[in-house]
Amino acid sequence: MEVVKITPRGYCHGVVDAFRIAKRVREETAGPVHMLGMLVHNTHATDDLQAQGIALVDPPDRLAGLDQIKGGTVIFTAHGVSPQVKQRAAELGLNAIDATCSDVVRTHELVADLAGKGYEVVYIGRKGHPEPEGVVGEAPGKVHLVQDAADIDALDLKGDRIAVTCQTTLSVWDTEDLIDRVRSRYPQAEVHNEICRATQERQEAAVEAAKDVDVVIVVGSSRSSNSLRLVEVVKKLGRKPAYLVDRLEDLDVAWLKGAKKVGVTSGASTPSQLTRRVIEYIEALEPPE
Ligand code: SF4
Repeated sequence: MEVVKITPRGYCHGVVDAFRIAKRVREETAGPVHMLGMLVHNTHATDDLQAQGIALVDPPDRLAGLDQIKGGTVIFTAHGVSPQVKQRAAELGLNAIDATCSDVVRTHELVADLAGKGYEVVYIGRKGHPEPEGVVGEAPGKVHLVQDAADIDALDLKGDRIAVTCQTTLSVWDTEDLIDRVRSRYPQAEVHNEICRATQERQEAAVEAAKDVDVVIVVGSSRSSNSLRLVEVVKKLGRKPAYLVDRLEDLDVAWLKGAKKVGVTSGASTPSQLTRRVIEYIEALEPPE
């Protein structure tokens, strides 16, 4: 069966940097090393890190999670943490290592700067994801997390100083719609679109490739925001079926029935060998008559 290998796909600079930091810390640090949440949102990468001796502490609330760590080193993940988490780690005497992606750091700085200047910040992001949790913590009460149109309609902001920004790994198109909705309610709102280049490029490539294939397989974990958004944009804008698989074993060949060309891409935290296995498996399938 013919496979279109969609590029760019797979690891972004933030994920590569986080792995490099974690590896160095494990090699150079005596005593226990923990990651506060999955370093990057991929189950295989997390298993590998644990096998290397980095323990996973993964509570829904990172602040509470810190209290489970009894000394040693804690690595803050690529998604970033709030200032409150950093402060608590210092109070607990932990050796804190920050593996936050530089693109996420930039959003933290932007939001802190805006809030410091008196802005109310509308932040478009996914509830329950660690990145918004960290960013909202930059200015509690001043940063308003919204996930959908209903959340925007429920806002009650006053004054001229209003800004709108977003999580780095959202759908480019859905976010534009939500930004427009904020602007229609608050025409004075300053727009700071923070979707990172890696997310944008992977989504654009997947939507473009979808024109030419019958179905798209996205290799990535279900906790990976950017992987989930790849599935969404292919379905919505590429108008083709799309499926998320964490590993080859998740692939259901019924999805490929009748397909002549299959597009394969992967999230920014997906190890390339997982994607390669999926590609090789589909290439070995007989094409339909
Ligand atoms: Fe950074 Fe974007 Fe990669 Fe997330 S997807 S780690 S924000 S480059």
